[in-house]
Amino acid sequence: MKLFRALGALALVLLLPVQLPKGMSAVRAAPAPSDVARVVRGTVSPRTTLAALLDKSLPRAGVHALVEAARPVYNLARISTGRPFALALAPDGLVTFFTYGIDELRTLRVRRVGETLRADIVERSFDVKVETIAGSIRSSLFGAVVAAGEDDQLALDLAEVFAWDVDFNTELQRGDSFRVAVEKLSLDGRFVRYGRILGAEFQRGERLLRAVRFEASRGTGYYAPDGTPLRKQFLRSPLRFDRVSSGYSASRFHPILQRFTSHFGIDFAAATGTPVNAAADGVVVAAGVMDGFGNAVKLRHPNGIETLYGHLSRIGARVGQRVSQGAPIGAVGQTGLATGPHLHYAMFRGGQYTNPMKIESAPAEPIPDDERPAFRAASASAIRMIEAVAAPLRAYVEPDNTRRPAPTRRQ
Ligand SMILES: [Zn+2]
Repeated sequence: MKLFRALGALALVLLLPVQLPKGMSAVRAAPAPSDVARVVRGTVSPRTTLAALLDKSLPRAGVHALVEAARPVYNLARISTGRPFALALAPDGLVTFFTYGIDELRTLRVRRVGETLRADIVERSFDVKVETIAGSIRSSLFGAVVAAGEDDQLALDLAEVFAWDVDFNTELQRGDSFRVAVEKLSLDGRFVRYGRILGAEFQRGERLLRAVRFEASRGTGYYAPDGTPLRKQFLRSPLRFDRVSSGYSASRFHPILQRFTSHFGIDFAAATGTPVNAAADGVVVAAGVMDGFGNAVKLRHPNGIETLYGHLSRIGARVGQRVSQGAPIGAVGQTGLATGPHLHYAMFRGGQYTNPMKIESAPAEPIPDDERPAFRAASASAIRMIEAVAAPLRAYVEPDNTRRPAPTRRQ
């Protein structure tokens, strides 16, 4: 919050016209300093136009000339909130230079050349570097990622890779560990964001999961090193691992709790409003109040399997609608017979209750034979990258002073 306020103040300062000392140019490839009397820079504020932004610095005719000069390469009517701009004015008030950051990689540049303004777009590219990061879970995946010196986004990306095998909300244990080979994108030596995860490993208890990214002809996905797709018919959990539901706490286990119930389902205790996602591709066969389950959605999937999502605060699907895996269908609540906000998740096969955590769903299509050699090369390379960093030691487990709260009884 403090940071946002500081940034706001900074943006305000930047919006004010700045008198630059002679010889100091604010913009890359700026014209000769003697042509520049004044530089105005800032970021585009919400719901504004270029004319309004430059109101104090440039007459309407000047703004119009700028827009017309830029038009062959970019429409300046489409300026976006938060994007940076800079305007350099000559002593006579004419534009000598204007830049606008279209996006991270493209900058519109308008320069005065003699009597005319010339526009072009300067494109850059990210510096991409692959790094292997290792961490071990003491309290949460977010905590482990941050302790490894990384951005919490990496925890979300990692959870997506293994979303069919691990419920990162409820199934992590102290001592579980990961290694991940990921692209880091940077500009001017400054980290911007993560790129592709090329390979990842997750040690969960005794189980070692490995993922290799492979760009096959029919699409990109993650595979076990033997070529088995990680994608399966059912997600491990209908609740996505995200910042909101995690409470962003590095010191405690995730507040989403899971328990099996006496009524043949799984209860996920989670905050009201937490998005609920379809566990698999399917068709909505019921959406509305269902006795003790309150607001509920029922989906039918291939192979005679159905899933039910109960106690919803909000239903986000209608009967007959096709939904794809991971699509939002409602939100956690406590409608029906529920003593606290939670999701009741149940699965039926041929009309009989079945345990969703034990479902053996058929894996997606394997890699076509003619792409096997390319996969083997990608797999070997990913494994080499993962193994470039030693796996975190599993013997050391911190004393348990942040005990998982005991789940309470709920329908
Ligand atoms: Zn329940």
